Amino acid sequence: MRHILCLLGLHNYSKPHYTDHFSSNVLDYRQKCGRCGHIITWTQPKGIDYKYYPVYWGKRKVGVYIVLVILVLIAVVLLFKLS
Ligand SMILES: [Zn+2]
Repeated sequence: MRHILCLLGLHNYSKPHYTDHFSSNVLDYRQKCGRCGHIITWTQPKGIDYKYYPVYWGKRKVGVYIVLVILVLIAVVLLFKLS
């Protein structure tokens, strides 16, 4: 059974590992979730220091959930004030 956080898309990814193909100018990156074993892969050009995927998309997803929770809390507070 998959972890509830993994079902929400909040995987516990390990540090990214990369494979270097010496004949090409890209790196193949790979991250694995420590809880459910979900693997994501992506490629990015050599010479770029920061990992633009999937770290940033993951953070964006977490942000969406936080905003949703805050909106629900505000809605509950407003309902109690109106009644
Ligand atoms: Zn996971």
